[in-house]
Amino acid sequence: MVAPLPRQMHVFVRDWLSSNNILLKSPDGHVLIDTGYVRHAPLTLALLRSQRGLGNAPLTKIVNTHCHSDHIGGNATIQRAYNCGIALPEGEAPLIARWDTKALWLDYADQRTDRFAADEILCAGSTYIWGNLEWRAIMAPGHDMGALVFYNPEYRILISGDALWENGFGLVMPRAVEPDALPATRATLDTIAALDVRVVIPGHGQAFTDAAAALARAYARVAAFEADDARVARHALKVLLTFQLLDRQRMPVADLPAYVEHVGMFRDINAACLRLPPDALAELLVRELVRAGAVSVQDEFLVPN
Ligand SMILES: [Zn+2]
Repeated sequence: MVAPLPRQMHVFVRDWLSSNNILLKSPDGHVLIDTGYVRHAPLTLALLRSQRGLGNAPLTKIVNTHCHSDHIGGNATIQRAYNCGIALPEGEAPLIARWDTKALWLDYADQRTDRFAADEILCAGSTYIWGNLEWRAIMAPGHDMGALVFYNPEYRILISGDALWENGFGLVMPRAVEPDALPATRATLDTIAALDVRVVIPGHGQAFTDAAAALARAYARVAAFEADDARVARHALKVLLTFQLLDRQRMPVADLPAYVEHVGMFRDINAACLRLPPDALAELLVRELVRAGAVSVQDEFLVPN
């Protein structure tokens, strides 16, 4: 950990398939923020039960920054194990209640999670006490229009989810598909820039202290996206495909044209922004991901690096 955190706070840094898990301990009840991807749920539970985690102590509550599969995938498993509550941002709770698999980017993005129900709603502007610390919930739309970030003024810690990473932020929908997403992304960066932040705990990657530098990189990306909606589209599709490969571990290259034609999020983004035939889109994604070093082609299979 690069930045010292209050001792009741522990961050399990995970990967790109599973979000980080943040444990906030307190005699009033332990709280876990975000639970990773469903395929990693047994590992998340094991981390939670380890000596660095809770040991034999109970978990009172799960909190989610937003409701994408890499943040909520362990909710059902962990709730079953601990009989704990689940608190969701107010913008996300209705999607979970009606299990809107399109808005949640589940089957729409060919992603999975186990179903669960919320029992507490978190509202922007409200302050919550988790781990004996005050956390202000702040609206952070963009990557996810219902997302919240959590800010502790005492230690100047920001739990940023996928609204701000050390290098960028979670994928944003092109304006041709979701007109509000990119403007909201910029507005959220403005909101974060107005906070006095000493350390950021992002949804993915290590905690970091230079929030100003991260914001500068994020603003530069927003500006590049604002100038070119097709670039936003290609970026989103590459992120989605890489995520899928991390889940499956491999996919036949020959299956990719049918895949991008049948999975809704690929189909819609392509139709709105790129308008490529499926085999041309598949070829473009493979070429750019290989060039970026994110994936390799081995024996006619696409594998993540
Ligand atoms: Zn995420």
